[in-house]
Amino acid sequence: MNGRLQSEEGINLARTALDLMANHSVPPTAHNYAVFTAFVADSNPELCSELQALVNVGGPIEAGTLEDLYDRFFTFKRIQDAVMEVGGAMSRELGAVVKTLEAAERDTAAYGEALAGASGQLDDATDSASVKQMVEGLVAATARMQRRSRDLEQRLQETSQEVDQLRNNLEKVREEAMTDALTGVANRKRFDESMRKSRREADLKGDPFSLIMCDIDHFKRFNDTWGHQTGDQIIRFVAACLSRFSRDTHVVARYGGEEFAVVLPSARLQDAMVIAEKVRSTVESKRLLRKSTNEDLGNITVSLGVSEYRSGESVECLLERCDTNLYKSKQTGRNKVTVDEGRGSRTAAA
Ligand code: GH3
Ligand code: MG
Ligand code: MG
Repeated sequence: MNGRLQSEEGINLARTALDLMANHSVPPTAHNYAVFTAFVADSNPELCSELQALVNVGGPIEAGTLEDLYDRFFTFKRIQDAVMEVGGAMSRELGAVVKTLEAAERDTAAYGEALAGASGQLDDATDSASVKQMVEGLVAATARMQRRSRDLEQRLQETSQEVDQLRNNLEKVREEAMTDALTGVANRKRFDESMRKSRREADLKGDPFSLIMCDIDHFKRFNDTWGHQTGDQIIRFVAACLSRFSRDTHVVARYGGEEFAVVLPSARLQDAMVIAEKVRSTVESKRLLRKSTNEDLGNITVSLGVSEYRSGESVECLLERCDTNLYKSKQTGRNKVTVDEGRGSRTAAA
């Protein structure tokens, strides 16, 4: 694709991509542009067929849908490439070590032969000159052996450092695969994992475990008024508020476009509710200025739902209860926290 994009054909592809984006009210962000350029250049069959379906529907294409396409077809590919690269480096390094070990083995065998030869010569030695010659031979063979084992030791030390470095790289890649690129909090994948893990531990130890779900109020309005970039700034701000009031053991995740969730292992409903309320009031009280122009973005508020795990229920069931609480916060005027109460729920007034 690169070769084509440098030519006049490339300029035409870029124009087609931008026209198509404009037709579907898609803002020209770097990620959207990457998705549409790949589409018009026909460079990824799976991406093309998914985007084609959206284009066929006509009308505006949702920002969240495009972000999801970007994540799946671009971020994932980058991570895949990084894993392949680390794997390749690891196997080259191990290949070099195996070669060094083989050479050392050959030298050890030769040294053994030299010793055996010397032992035979000792039986036949009749004068001091032949003893001297034999000892000199042994000294030289020993020196070669020492050199070789020093080299080997150094090589192994270098390899061990290299392998540590590669392990760190791999850990970084793994971390990236679990992190939301826009906000730096956990992504949906890590959220799903931590929900399953917390449920398992709660069942095993009989500990409590709670969940907060949080959705930005009237976010579409902010997006439409201030543009997508400022929308992203608001999403980052809410993620930072959630992180600020969560403990190290909690997992703050971006659940979807402008929705978040916090998994709180070992936390009772009451603890989770206190955190949710702090987040709600902090978001409401902060005046956020538009980065590019310093304009006041007005009141940003969030609605939240809080639920505590009920022994034996499925992760999906807990999510559904929490989502119902969040929905109640929306229905009763937004900027609210709704928590489980008995078998029902209770909404705290803002
Ligand atoms: P409500 O108070 O009922 O939650 O209304 P809302 O407008 O917040 O909810 P709605 O679900 O109608 O709109 C969510 C919007 O979020 C629509 C979508 O374009 C936008 N969005 C999704 N992901 C992103 C993103 O990554 N960045 C930006 N800027 N906008 C996004
Ligand atoms: Mg919303
Ligand atoms: Mg929403």
